[in-house]
Amino acid sequence: MHSITNTYDVVVIGAGHAGTEAALAAARMGARTLILTPNLDRVGFMPCNPSIGGPAKSQIVAEVDALGGAMAEVADATALQARMLNTSKGPAVQAIRLQCDKSLYAIAMKERVELQPNLDLVQDEAIGIALTTGARPQVAGVTLRHGGQIACSTIVVTAGTFLRARMVSGESSHAGGRAGDANDQQLSASLADIGLRLKRFKTGTPPRLDARSLDVSVCELQPGDEPPRWISRNGAKGGIDQISLPSADSGIFSEPVWLGGRWQVPCYQTATNEAAHEIIRANLHRAPMYNGSIEGTGPRYCPSIEDKVGRFADKTSHPIFIEPEGWRSHEVYVQGLSTSLPADVQHDVVRCVRGMENARITRYGYAVEYDALDATELLQTLETRKVEGLFMAGQVNGTSGYEEAAGQGLVAGANATARSLGTPELILSRTDSYIGVMIDDLTSQQFSEPYRMLTSRAEYRLILRSDTADARLAERAHAAGLISEARAHTVATEQQTIASIQSELGSIWLGDNPRHAAALQAEGVAPANRSLTALDVARRPHTSLEAVLRALQTLEMWKGEIPAGITLERTQIAITYGAFIDKEEREAERHRRAAEDRLDPEMDYTLVRGLRIEAQQRLNANKPLTVGQAQRTPGVTPGDISALLVHLSVARATR
Ligand SMILES: Cc1cc2nc3c(=O)[nH]c(=O)nc-3n(C[C@H](O)[C@H](O)[C@H](O)COP(=O)(O)OP(=O)(O)OC[C@H]3O[C@@H](n4cnc5c(N)ncnc54)[C@H](O)[C@@H]3O)c2cc1C
Repeated sequence: MHSITNTYDVVVIGAGHAGTEAALAAARMGARTLILTPNLDRVGFMPCNPSIGGPAKSQIVAEVDALGGAMAEVADATALQARMLNTSKGPAVQAIRLQCDKSLYAIAMKERVELQPNLDLVQDEAIGIALTTGARPQVAGVTLRHGGQIACSTIVVTAGTFLRARMVSGESSHAGGRAGDANDQQLSASLADIGLRLKRFKTGTPPRLDARSLDVSVCELQPGDEPPRWISRNGAKGGIDQISLPSADSGIFSEPVWLGGRWQVPCYQTATNEAAHEIIRANLHRAPMYNGSIEGTGPRYCPSIEDKVGRFADKTSHPIFIEPEGWRSHEVYVQGLSTSLPADVQHDVVRCVRGMENARITRYGYAVEYDALDATELLQTLETRKVEGLFMAGQVNGTSGYEEAAGQGLVAGANATARSLGTPELILSRTDSYIGVMIDDLTSQQFSEPYRMLTSRAEYRLILRSDTADARLAERAHAAGLISEARAHTVATEQQTIASIQSELGSIWLGDNPRHAAALQAEGVAPANRSLTALDVARRPHTSLEAVLRALQTLEMWKGEIPAGITLERTQIAITYGAFIDKEEREAERHRRAAEDRLDPEMDYTLVRGLRIEAQQRLNANKPLTVGQAQRTPGVTPGDISALLVHLSVARATR
């Protein structure tokens, strides 16, 4: 049982996806941590689709897992369905997507928070931030609506879509952070008083339907994978027990299927049509985003149906996915039909869609408009430049998505702890993680719409695969106190195995020789028609490493054990894509050396000799944190960067 103290190292405001990871990370690292939320029944709550993962997002979740976070394990445990996406493409863009039970996910995440030592959980609302005075003020405490003031050395704000939030559906609009939750006025005012730049963003959600009113026999079935694949390390090793409930005894999800050792439920696909688009077009003037009652910008990669119909006038149909929200829920999520059109229009549109002709809406779709921080106010630690000890993470930084929020939360929680306890910072970069790419983007560029992670944002996506998250991050996670020694050791051993198999195979020669050919053919591997190393043989397209190793065992050329599970899989990928991976590694190393050179955030660029006036102005306005960010500043030329590098080397030599 925790005792509530009055002084904390880290106070986390908000218990959504950023808040839970921030608080868990801080507490794991030994900080006395408090997490606050106005509603303890909505810890880790998913207000939109209860789905975790997908392209670029599953990579972030794998990184959160590698850093000891909870999201991957909770999603693996509470998944109703698992699918691997992009299977026809290369490993850099393959992604696991899990459809979770919304209620069980929140219950399991709350339990993780409750069981975490050093972490107190309190239902209350932060209404103000107390600061010391000075040129760069410091956090002194947080003021609560009910519980008075609490002293703390750092705060992580993870208030999601709640700041000055307004929910809109058609002509109706009222204050609120998401359906069922009040909005937040005072915290937003407190952040504005500090002088932080805020902007207005919006996001939206589709209506939910009663599954029993749908005819899915006319829709395309989307079954789960057999076997299912899991995002967490423990899940991939078969170490995560499913948390489930007996399924509902009626409706389309009443008969789950036993697939690959897991009960899974199917999803269904249908599509909009011209009739639905016609209704939308006829009512666009009643859509808040078209009639001017919403000023915020929405997510480009998750647009509302009215936005899609308005923007892509030539398209006669858009895909719609019918997805379950829980084992004991008859409500389904309707992916692709996000809308803030009035209720009567939502009703008519839904009923035009194949399979939904008799659909009953249980909850109407709506949009929410909220304040988000201009994240160029932040350092790479996610601490605000203006206030020492004040960190921000998640949707409040202008991102969209549970996964993006979790990744930022973990980094902010770790760095709030580092600031509080005086331990080293955790700075991730573009070359070591998707989380690093996201934070670098957010802190260096102005985004005029919610930021969503995409594989195309990462320059080194072949090395930033989900399966390398442990290898990339375990050592740093352990050094920061985020994962145990035992886990770091297991990852290091696995890496040694992968490296030694590659090196041994590189020294075994297979020739155009009947004995070698017979052993390979017996395992279904095409023989070597000239002298090749076993590594070259295993590297050929569609060649199974396991089969090559078995052939080598037959030939008594391989004495080691054949690895199993994720080690075998990771070795296979490392071998198959070895040449491309090596090339990318070399480029990443060059980038690391050139671009990760840190700059003083207070630097005065008018003092840099040889820098053009435009570059001085741009850099003084942006105050880049690294040479890489300076390089990516619009209006800054390679010549300016050369001048900057000369300036830095002279300054360092004379220091
Ligand atoms: C209607 C809606 C639709 C969405 N649609 C999409 C979508 O289509 N795609 C997508 O990727 N994402 C969508 N999202 C966003 C998704 O919910 C967020 O990306 C994700 O939840 C962000 O996590 P977070 O931790 O930053 O914030 P949240 O999960 O929102 O958590 C915020 C937390 O802060 C708490 N809080 C707020 N103010 C205070 C305070 N003053 N004191 C204490 N606690 C406070 C809240 O109670 C909550 O616990 C949608 C969100 C909403 C509301």
